[in-house]
Amino acid sequence: MRTSKTIIFEQPGGPEVLRLVERETGDPGPGQIRVRHHACGLNYIDIYQRSGAYPLALPHALGMEAAGVVEAVGEGVTHLAEGDRVAYAAAPPGAYCEARVMQAAQVCRLPESIDFRTGAAMMLQGLTVHYLFQRTVPLAAGDTVLFHAAAGGVGLIACQWARAMGIRLIGTAGTDAKCDLARAHGAAETINYETEDFAARVRDLTGGRGVDVVMDSIGAATFERSLDCLRPLGMMISFGNASGKVPPFDLGILGAKGSLKITRPTLFTHIAEHETCQSMAADLFAMVESGKLTIRIGQEYALEDVAQAHRDMESRTTTGSSVLLC
Ligand code: NDP
Repeated sequence: MRTSKTIIFEQPGGPEVLRLVERETGDPGPGQIRVRHHACGLNYIDIYQRSGAYPLALPHALGMEAAGVVEAVGEGVTHLAEGDRVAYAAAPPGAYCEARVMQAAQVCRLPESIDFRTGAAMMLQGLTVHYLFQRTVPLAAGDTVLFHAAAGGVGLIACQWARAMGIRLIGTAGTDAKCDLARAHGAAETINYETEDFAARVRDLTGGRGVDVVMDSIGAATFERSLDCLRPLGMMISFGNASGKVPPFDLGILGAKGSLKITRPTLFTHIAEHETCQSMAADLFAMVESGKLTIRIGQEYALEDVAQAHRDMESRTTTGSSVLLC
């Protein structure tokens, strides 16, 4: 019988609700695999789920990405075989574990050149950057994007993706050291939004015009001022709420500020189809293999230390991506 150390939580709350248990994995059914993880990725969505902001039916396991080796393959799975090195970003949550049975559709073969830690760190954040820059709004070389939290996991990948596309990315971050890090990864300019009025700085940096696109994952604290950063007909991509949910607002504001557009996307819509997910992952792997994208793992923890990993993310002390080793 295969068992696995697995992180679960039984009620919403702070990092202290996370518990390590040993449980049976079971065997893969049709369309499923069993994967033995070597590393699991940490993402801000894990915090929304743990805290109850994105409710789950409890008790529930947590974690939405990992990398490892396929241990067993269920009926009908043709793109993977036992022994394959793989990585994935996928629902439902449950990746913080040594091994699990899961649907195979979103699991991707990991190139030999990419190690497991990098594979675990890059899937959810990298596929997010892929859809933000290539599947959400037409973006071309010479366009200007304002990107909040530019030194975070998604942020450092976005800086490099923008540089590779010839896009001028203006990044914000909460400390000067984080601003330096974002510029070192490809941000053209940075703004410390704890010490500076970012909307005023964006107007200065764009000669009063405003940016073509804002990518805002901070939510409540930045939403309204982010709209002030856009040029007429510009696009607001609100894709997260690290500071709290964007409160309801009057659509008329979009007209008054210059016929602005707005969308609230999620990765899981973009990777829902097997073929699309696999092709987006191939693009992402190619970016890493070409050397245009380096995944910076800023923090590593043992699986048992997951509560500390959550504390660090919530206290804004992390940079780049974080992984659990198992
Ligand atoms: P990050 O590594 O970027 O961590 C979040 C960062 O947000 C912090 O480091 C901090 O950077 C900044 N921040 C600003 N205000 C707060 C606050 N009040 N509390 C906590 N953090 C704050 O996380 P991820 O890379 O995992 O994710 C980045 C964002 O993207 C998240 O909001 C996440 O939900 C979203 N996301 C959305 C997806 C989607 O498809 N919709 C998919 C993936 C991620 P600083 O100190 O520099 O301000």
